[in-house]
Amino acid sequence: MATSIKELTSNEDSDWCPGCGDFGILLSVKNAIIASGLDPHKTVIVSGIGCSSKLPHFINANGVHTLHGRAIPFAEGIKLANPELTVILDSGDGDTYGIGAGHFVSAGRRNVDIKLFIHDNGVYSLTKGQASPTLPEGRRAKSMPAPNINGALNPLAIAIMAGYTFVARTESYNVKEQTDIMTKALKHKGLAIVDILQGCPTYNAEYTSANWLSQHTHKLPESYDGRVKNAKDANEVNRKRMDAIGVLLGETPDSMNTGVFFDWENGDTFEDRFISRGIKPPSSQSIAGKDNLSTIDLAKALDELSVKG
Ligand code: SF4
Ligand code: MG
Repeated sequence: MATSIKELTSNEDSDWCPGCGDFGILLSVKNAIIASGLDPHKTVIVSGIGCSSKLPHFINANGVHTLHGRAIPFAEGIKLANPELTVILDSGDGDTYGIGAGHFVSAGRRNVDIKLFIHDNGVYSLTKGQASPTLPEGRRAKSMPAPNINGALNPLAIAIMAGYTFVARTESYNVKEQTDIMTKALKHKGLAIVDILQGCPTYNAEYTSANWLSQHTHKLPESYDGRVKNAKDANEVNRKRMDAIGVLLGETPDSMNTGVFFDWENGDTFEDRFISRGIKPPSSQSIAGKDNLSTIDLAKALDELSVKG
């Protein structure tokens, strides 16, 4: 079990720009790991490509820095191979909602117990600030020759419709709120997404500064409760989904809510369905017999994979 920030801090220095919101996200991930009592050697951080995707290098847990847009299938595969692991995915808006959009939507159909913490700064920052799928129409990031001609996606409304069972938003300079929401996401059994409005002072300073974010975001009202009380009540589930989508569609790029929009812990994860079909995760299969020799018949496995003429 991790007990201190120091224990979770990797020796590698972060090379993010001064003031980058990724620092607050990194600290919050560490806080949430500690608050959840997770063991770093049973925790895996998976990322795609982008500034945010360097995060696994800066935290003392297992990490996999994967391919552009492909972090979700890697994370799902890790969880299926060993359901005992806690799998956190830290990636960017461009990586997840643009390049990886197909995986982002398909993941909702499965409900694998993984946690997506998405660094959402409205730009592809590693490649010098092109508009990402969440940059609103008419906004112009520093390196763009003209204001954005495309409209923005609403990733959290998409997540709810796709089947995600925990859907929340926070912002990168508010470490206390992030820690609280990430801890809730880690506690949730099922597919969770936390969209984190992230400061990028280098390419999207005007709309992502700590000041701008604190003025243009507000907590969901106390009276709002996105948690489904009776997980088996389809009417309640749909009502809560519609409530959440109603709130999300009522927002503007200049006025956004933070907090948990939807929380439906239904106990029906993909890995449980997989195991109920009699399929043992590789982590619980024996790899050696009593004679200490491999139980895997490689010749048979290769024969199964070979292309028959
Ligand atoms: Fe952070 Fe933006 Fe610099 Fe990337 S370019 S490290 S997102 S401030
Ligand atoms: Mg981005």
